[in-house]
Amino acid sequence: MAVEQAGQTPKKGITVLGATGSIGLSTLDVLARHPNDYQVIALTANTQTDVLFQQCQAFHPKYAVMVDEASAEALAEKLNAAGSSTEVLSGAAALEQVAALPETDYVMAAIVGAAGLLPSLAAAKAGKRVMLANKEALVMSGKLFMDAVRDNGAELLPIDSEHNAIFQSMPVQGKAGVKRILLTGSGGPFRTRDIDTLHEVTPAQAVAHPNWSMGQKISVDSATMMNKGLEVIEACWLFDVPSSQIQVVIHPQSTIHSMVSYIDGSVIAQLGNPDMRTPIAYALAWPQRIDAGVDELDFFQLARLDFEAPDFNRFPCLKFAYDAHQMGGYASIALNAANEIAVENFLNHRINFTEIPQLIENALEQASSGTPLVLEDILIQDADSREQARLWIKNNKKQTTVL
Ligand code: NAD
Ligand code: MG
Repeated sequence: MAVEQAGQTPKKGITVLGATGSIGLSTLDVLARHPNDYQVIALTANTQTDVLFQQCQAFHPKYAVMVDEASAEALAEKLNAAGSSTEVLSGAAALEQVAALPETDYVMAAIVGAAGLLPSLAAAKAGKRVMLANKEALVMSGKLFMDAVRDNGAELLPIDSEHNAIFQSMPVQGKAGVKRILLTGSGGPFRTRDIDTLHEVTPAQAVAHPNWSMGQKISVDSATMMNKGLEVIEACWLFDVPSSQIQVVIHPQSTIHSMVSYIDGSVIAQLGNPDMRTPIAYALAWPQRIDAGVDELDFFQLARLDFEAPDFNRFPCLKFAYDAHQMGGYASIALNAANEIAVENFLNHRINFTEIPQLIENALEQASSGTPLVLEDILIQDADSREQARLWIKNNKKQTTVL
């Protein structure tokens, strides 16, 4: 329900899930440029009390959610002392609550990982405009999620820059004449590194993405190209195409954000500077356009645009994602769960970079066949695969502290 104001177009009410993250910050940056069009209804975070406090002071949401209880108490105390009227809620269930509020029209789903599944799904079930950054939710629950969107009249706008680009390059309705989706990816920081030294790379080297500034998890995913693998699965669900119709194209400059190739020989692409405020502004304003604060692309500054085919030997995670999607829904859940455990343990120096694909391969070997039809089965496969991944680390690393 949009917020009414006398004599003006009602403001759209927004809930930002994962407000303190990289996408959350970019979203609030765009919203701050349009105070007459949007009103922040709820902001959520996991543990970052100070950042969420500052955001509450700037945007005056009705609700602030902190999943961690102690952090929620600390936030409530600070807000009270500052005379704020924002109500603080805590716990994971509150995320679903603020995703489905009647005052909320649009939900930015920007929690990282499987933790975003239930709140993103709650927004779809409540018929909101779901601005989906949380690709892991769609990888885990593809059919269930798309059914929830359709059955509840929700709008699904992709935030992932590639999918936003594809959305902009697809026909207005349906997909008549579409031959192939060309999903671009930079190849990350290790595209040209000697493959025999990949086992030595440190977390700091892996998160140093050449073009994009992002959260830690997606940065490691970009280094292994699991991010592109998750995006292949994401694109299959969003655009209802088989994985065989999706070609990954390595494009190191990240200027073309993806393309659609048509049967008449046309290729339509979306280009821009690598700045997530562009897809965020597009999803907020769709079908209109608003200022995103992003510099215009300067073609005379672009030295060149390069393209190459992906190398599955260098990036086995990308191959595993294609395999998983072929195998079915349970395999995609296993892929995602094992990857989340692997990335967390890599970031904490418990496994090395080349062990990430080993954990994922192990998870795929153990995944149930077929596709889950109910949420409970999704959550069970997710939990099982996490346990198997932890066990793999314990057995292979001969140490007891596994995250
Ligand atoms: P981030 O790590 O910077 O932020 C994550 C946010 O989620 C934070 O607000 C954090 O408080 C919250 N969060 C973390 N764990 C949580 C939990 N257990 N429960 C509730 N909230 C939790 O991540 P990011 O880079 O902003 O990415 C967010 C999502 O967007 C990811 O799914 C990522 O793949 C996707 N995405 C990000 C980018 C980018 O440029 N950063 C681009 C495309 C897609
Ligand atoms: Mg992307």
